[in-house]
Amino acid sequence: MSKRSCDMAADLLPLYAENMCSEESRAFVAEHLAECDACRQKLQKMNTAVSVRPDDDITTIKRIKKRIRIEKLVIAGVAAAVCLLGGWFTMFFLTSTACDMDYDKSIAGHIRVEEEEDGDLWLVREDTATAADTCFPTIRDGQGRHMGYDKDFDKETKNGYGITFQWARFKAIAPLTIPMPTEERTFLFNKNEKPAMQEVFYYDANSKTEYTLWERS
Ligand SMILES: [Zn+2]
Repeated sequence: MSKRSCDMAADLLPLYAENMCSEESRAFVAEHLAECDACRQKLQKMNTAVSVRPDDDITTIKRIKKRIRIEKLVIAGVAAAVCLLGGWFTMFFLTSTACDMDYDKSIAGHIRVEEEEDGDLWLVREDTATAADTCFPTIRDGQGRHMGYDKDFDKETKNGYGITFQWARFKAIAPLTIPMPTEERTFLFNKNEKPAMQEVFYYDANSKTEYTLWERS
């Protein structure tokens, strides 16, 4: 069998195996195969390879599908964990951290200082102001610094008494504040016993703003 004839047959073998060549080529290959052992073996190998390929493909497709399924599960799991963690942090942030109360919304008109004949000063809170979670008193010194907020606060020159209300953050963003049915009175000090105190104020620690509630006359 000539090398040239083998080469031609080898070129046509793949098409022959797939039954895709012309009648003429088919006849040529068939004729050649009848006489050439080497090319017959080649065709046999080719047929084996062809018959194996679909199984391989299915295995590969299954493997890819499985990998995609696992990837989807992992992504879904991570997304769920992120959502849960985000939700937990948001809840924690809103319920467990405090912010100063909005003066215009919650303090103005709801809180005042009452002075009695004997010089006693009372802090009177009503409605929304009473719904504060915490109340911080702060003394002011002669330089306008506040105890608890400014590290250089000077005890010797204190001349003002301030109050800061705080509430959990979710109350600040809630559309409705919680009205309280009764007002609440808290004793502050007697102005005759503390002659240095010139003023009682509401202190917004965030904007470092004082809102005067009472002034010595
Ligand atoms: Zn041959």
